[in-house]
Amino acid sequence: MAKILCVLYPDPVDGYPPRYARDEIPTITTYANGQTAPTPMGALGFKPGELVGCVSGALGLRNYLERGGHELIVISDKDGPNSEFERLLPDAEVVISQPFWPAYLTADRITKAKNLKVALTAGIGSDHVDLAAAARANITVAEVTGSNSISVAEHVVMMALSLVRNYLPAHQTAIDGGWNIADCVSRSYDIEGLHFGTIGAGRIGLAVLRRLKPFGLHLHYTQRHRLDSTIENELNLTFHSDVQSLIKTVDIINLQIPLYPSTENLLDEAVLAQMKRGTYLINCARGKLVERDALVRALKSGHIAGYAGDVWFPQPASPEHPWRTMPFNGMTPHMSGTSLSAQARYAAGTLEILQSYFEGTRIREEYLIVDSGNLAGTGAHSYELG
Ligand code: NAD
Repeated sequence: MAKILCVLYPDPVDGYPPRYARDEIPTITTYANGQTAPTPMGALGFKPGELVGCVSGALGLRNYLERGGHELIVISDKDGPNSEFERLLPDAEVVISQPFWPAYLTADRITKAKNLKVALTAGIGSDHVDLAAAARANITVAEVTGSNSISVAEHVVMMALSLVRNYLPAHQTAIDGGWNIADCVSRSYDIEGLHFGTIGAGRIGLAVLRRLKPFGLHLHYTQRHRLDSTIENELNLTFHSDVQSLIKTVDIINLQIPLYPSTENLLDEAVLAQMKRGTYLINCARGKLVERDALVRALKSGHIAGYAGDVWFPQPASPEHPWRTMPFNGMTPHMSGTSLSAQARYAAGTLEILQSYFEGTRIREEYLIVDSGNLAGTGAHSYELG
């Protein structure tokens, strides 16, 4: 019998279950790169479209785990030495966490987690785990690769449009009873003809490029692995061999690489200063890729025209976090990858990974980040150990 410690975000303020806006969601079976969507054995413990990412939803895992004689503990109290997470961690064999409400598995916590075998990310992005420490402790780190890539790509497109067209301030004018058109449009442009560049063109970054193509933008990218020439030609992409070259050229920059020690503060004061005046930045990757206070200064000075994203550090962000109130921001709490549609896929993928683990079959290669003491699968492709 294993103890599974699952850390999820709290229920809605008005209680669970919520009323749903729609009765069903589409079934997605295959992703753009040919990867199949999660294929767990047997029935799901939830109806796709239900809110399973919060504590009461428990990712729909309770029936499967308890039938197998395992103990599932679902909590949201995760930060600080007196948290439930720290108290329960030493007995846990599996920890499940979501990037939206990350249970930080630091090297210190990994030392205390004497029974831990698997750190499972219900979603994508396992930087909340100290990967080097997990590798040393022979803990398998896995995530549900692909499960919310399109959810995030759609969000990035929305944010590019809303920043450039000045949507949020204009919407606020409408809410406030105003009608000053000049105020609404004095920072509003078309995105057609602008240069858009993504730092990282993996599953999400490439999906963003594909979705923006019909808008008539000039598309650029830089990343560790150059894309196939057929994709470059199809989308008329300009490849940049480094970040510096891309950021000096484009008008809108999207960040879509993982966070690991050498990408922390990738966009620092000096890098921000090299961008064109009036650049828009979108970051639905990780908050720590950007130097927090340098960004605030760049927005206040007018060098950067707008910043939108949903990722912060730490999470949840404190009420005083300066990105909540900096000028020209389109921030939300971390939500892009946890739409109800995304939850259905990453909850099914979490079940699939648990079934592989308990039945002794190999976890899908693309789900692996760390395995057998080293980076593996998507981890080997996209991350570096600290
Ligand atoms: P992916 O593994 O498919 O692609 C990442 C790409 O980054 C890889 O192709 C790799 O070549 C490139 N890369 C890695 N390090 C680089 C570097 N230093 N410079 C240039 N390129 C580099 O990943 P993905 O599924 O597209 O996700 C990307 C990131 O987005 C995740 O790691 C995660 O942090 C974030 N994410 C956020 C949300 C959200 O809800 N906001 C959801 C999913 C993923």
